[in-house]
Amino acid sequence: MAVECRASYQPGPEPSAPVDVAERALSAVRDLCGPWAATIAASLAVQPAAPIVVTVVGGAGVCRTRGTHIVLPLNDDGSGVLAGLAHELVHAVAGQSPNRLFDEGLAVQVDSELRLAGPAWPYYYLSPHRWMEVFREEGWRVTLPELIASGEGRSLAEDRSSVRRRAVHYLHAASLCRHLRDALDPDEFWARYRSGRLLPEGGDVGALEREWFLSIEHPLMADELLQRDRSFAVRTYSAARREVNGRGVQAR
Ligand SMILES: [Zn+2]
Repeated sequence: MAVECRASYQPGPEPSAPVDVAERALSAVRDLCGPWAATIAASLAVQPAAPIVVTVVGGAGVCRTRGTHIVLPLNDDGSGVLAGLAHELVHAVAGQSPNRLFDEGLAVQVDSELRLAGPAWPYYYLSPHRWMEVFREEGWRVTLPELIASGEGRSLAEDRSSVRRRAVHYLHAASLCRHLRDALDPDEFWARYRSGRLLPEGGDVGALEREWFLSIEHPLMADELLQRDRSFAVRTYSAARREVNGRGVQAR
């Protein structure tokens, strides 16, 4: 499934990176966005609604996607551009769901499963299902009603009060999406994604939560990414949190 992608560079008011860094970042985006979008489209068995347009922008900021238009801010060394590209491409290929749990959950889950960007973000080293086991052991796991309350509307993406809570919620959403993709036939999954409804009319949230949590206890080995040990993943997570908190910046 070929996917048409275009990329360009737009200098910010105060360019944060030298011109050669911007050129290298743009060239990498140009090389990778088409093949990566095609891999994502094949994995999801969907095509983006329109050609994908990526704008690399000078200066700091957060990655974002509206429709099939992706904006990637160029940080000092250009590394953030590729870190965010795979995640944003999932948004562009899948299209936006009215429900942030579907939107961000699918992007994190597919990004994690396909590993396109390499270890680009701190939660990479374990699959979302494995992270849910860590969260249970650490006492960070939330219930499905709590997740729904956090994730509907914009709060999942815009709650900057707690980096950890936001990251934990993203991974909950990713694990939930993995469960729904495993449990439902693709037409039903996409019907719910497009409508934003996690459950059919009159569906039982408690039953969905039980099925989801049970599926985590028996994860499909095909979903496992790396047999890294849990302590390594937790160390990575903690280091990333320190870095994120220290800089006061959170990508995506
Ligand atoms: Zn996102």
